[in-house]
Amino acid sequence: MARQGISRRTAIKGIGAMGAVGGGAAYGAKAARGSGRSAVRAKPADYAEQIARRVHETLLVDSHEHLPDESERLKGSVPGREKSANDWSLIFNHYLDSDLVSAGMPPKDYSAFFTTQLDPQAKWRLIAPYWPAVKNTGYGQAVRIAIRELYGIDEVSEKTVGRIAEAYRASLTPGLYRKVLCDVAKIDSCQVNAGSFHESDMPDLLLQDISIVGMYMGPSLHAYGKGIEVRELADWHKVIDAWFEKYARYAVAVKSQAAYSRDLDYEDVKAEQAAWIFKRVLAKEPVSAEDQKKLQDHLFWYAVGKATEYDLPVKLHTGYYAGHNRMPLGRVAKNPTSVCEVVRRAPDTRFVLMHICWPYYEEMIALAKHYSNVFLDMCWAWIIGPAVSTEFLKHYLTSAPANKILTFGGDYRLVEPVAGHAAIARRGIALALTELVDEGWLTVDGAFELVEPIMCGNGRRIFKLDEKKAACRKAPWV
Ligand SMILES: [Zn+2]
Repeated sequence: MARQGISRRTAIKGIGAMGAVGGGAAYGAKAARGSGRSAVRAKPADYAEQIARRVHETLLVDSHEHLPDESERLKGSVPGREKSANDWSLIFNHYLDSDLVSAGMPPKDYSAFFTTQLDPQAKWRLIAPYWPAVKNTGYGQAVRIAIRELYGIDEVSEKTVGRIAEAYRASLTPGLYRKVLCDVAKIDSCQVNAGSFHESDMPDLLLQDISIVGMYMGPSLHAYGKGIEVRELADWHKVIDAWFEKYARYAVAVKSQAAYSRDLDYEDVKAEQAAWIFKRVLAKEPVSAEDQKKLQDHLFWYAVGKATEYDLPVKLHTGYYAGHNRMPLGRVAKNPTSVCEVVRRAPDTRFVLMHICWPYYEEMIALAKHYSNVFLDMCWAWIIGPAVSTEFLKHYLTSAPANKILTFGGDYRLVEPVAGHAAIARRGIALALTELVDEGWLTVDGAFELVEPIMCGNGRRIFKLDEKKAACRKAPWV
């Protein structure tokens, strides 16, 4: 068995994320002889490459991005780096920059790297000491693959950074997003979390989430439209109602990343217990942390109730924190047990739990297995940990129902590395399915049957993508 497993891994080496992703070259001579979809009856020697081929040909539903519209990006607007010019170094921003800092890059070099004051060679000298340490992480691999797939440049080095800078500038033309997302990454559509709700000018490629985090954290009184004077909690409820009334038909889901600043222990707090706290917040009077939490809890459930009324899934950030030098792992470790109480309390709400709550992913598989209203989303996971995500998918598919797993979300602000992330995901999905066949947990037919649902079909169904795309094409801002 072990020997056979090794041979299968060797066989699909050809789709190695850093090997030959993206094109026809991804398949060896054996696969080239295969007959595409009729290859379900693959001979054992062929199935690894044929699974890889099927995974390569299948569109990915991308369930999570932070992309601005292409029109904004081409004007130089990059979320989180608004004051930077649109410079090649941005490809290293979000998320590879965090690995560079973790590897020891000093703050002054970090800042200098993202300015426009330095030429490519000088920038290379700033990252060169840390490059060997970060180039093989998921963040590093996504960037290297993107550079190779989009610019045809195989390595990042002193010799190539000048060409990378030129290729980056030359690529900033209309059509960039379709090239990266559709042609290279083979993505059906993205689901974007950008502000409270973004009226995108690419309505059926960049579908949008309603962000609910500002409805209950703070709350953000200025983020959700004008026209309703807010004097008390009941008025704020009306603002939330109006936001859903206006955007729910176009949104694919609602999203909250409040796990970055609090535990996910949302209690059932009635309006009458929260109303006086809201008034104090409005008057900018001091409010204890305990009372702030009560107000947040009340408003969280109010927003979740509206999402449920409009049949929108509720996406919640769980697990690891983006960035560096700030994550309270004790709080993160509580995510699975806290979110368990949330899903148990709202059986009619569909919860999409994001990022596999890494590194606590086994607990999340238990939730998906046990609760019919829990769906797991591997967005961001493949670049946090490519190998562990492969293991996660193997564990998931042999433990919990396959119709509740979403296998891809790039989670980027910049479009380019999405192509690298998608290549890593495809490699991991193909590896997971092949190893399950190797190990006797799946038949070859069983592996082929799973490809479309886990990459695309589940996303289309869970987020009603056909209906939402049709609605967005007719949206008043299009
Ligand atoms: Zn995100």
